[in-house]
Amino acid sequence: MAKKSIFVVEDEEDILDLVRHHLAKEGYGVSTATNGMEAVKAILRKPPDLVLLDLMLPGLDGLEVCRMLKKDAQTAEVPILMVTAKDEEADVVAGLELGADDYIVKPFRMKELIARVRAALRRRRGAPPDAEAVVQAGDIVIHPGRHEVKVAGEAVEMTVTELRILHLLAGRPGWVMTRDQIVDAVRGEDYAVTDRAVDFQIVGIRRKLGARADCIETVRGVGYRFRAED
Ligand code: CA
Repeated sequence: MAKKSIFVVEDEEDILDLVRHHLAKEGYGVSTATNGMEAVKAILRKPPDLVLLDLMLPGLDGLEVCRMLKKDAQTAEVPILMVTAKDEEADVVAGLELGADDYIVKPFRMKELIARVRAALRRRRGAPPDAEAVVQAGDIVIHPGRHEVKVAGEAVEMTVTELRILHLLAGRPGWVMTRDQIVDAVRGEDYAVTDRAVDFQIVGIRRKLGARADCIETVRGVGYRFRAED
């Protein structure tokens, strides 16, 4: 199997060295940049398999880098794992809405970083299922065409909106969805869904999932994620 390549954008040199060392030890090919403009140029020249992107960068910041990479056809599909400080929730939401795949909060343990990198690389295969596709996640099966949800073989009654939200989340396990992304995906199905209404819908979905309620995780300040099995 070819070596997977990871491009690390980080302006703090000691963190950069540490991350580079650990990723190389795991067998990844690592390229780096310490500022946004340099990163965008190098990444567009030779798109890697994944970008690890610090959001707080001098000059062109991480969100701008994310926006530029997602806009270019060559790099639009390259997963971006954002690196953020604890108080950057608004930036995380903005980054996810620009198309970043996941984020990790500083300070992180190297073991956690490696696990997230592996998960993001694995997820790269497979686009989100279309709205009518049957989604199966563990013992939960969602059949939009038949308006049917089954948990461990038992049919569970859900509203159209609940089913759409569950379908969206379960179709991309491990992926954080912001409230806005959820609203956009289900808008106009049976009534206007707002940010706050998403939280309300999630409460309903969890209640109906019963013993499997914990498969929908709340990502504080950001949104929701369907628990990935591994
Ligand atoms: Ca930084």
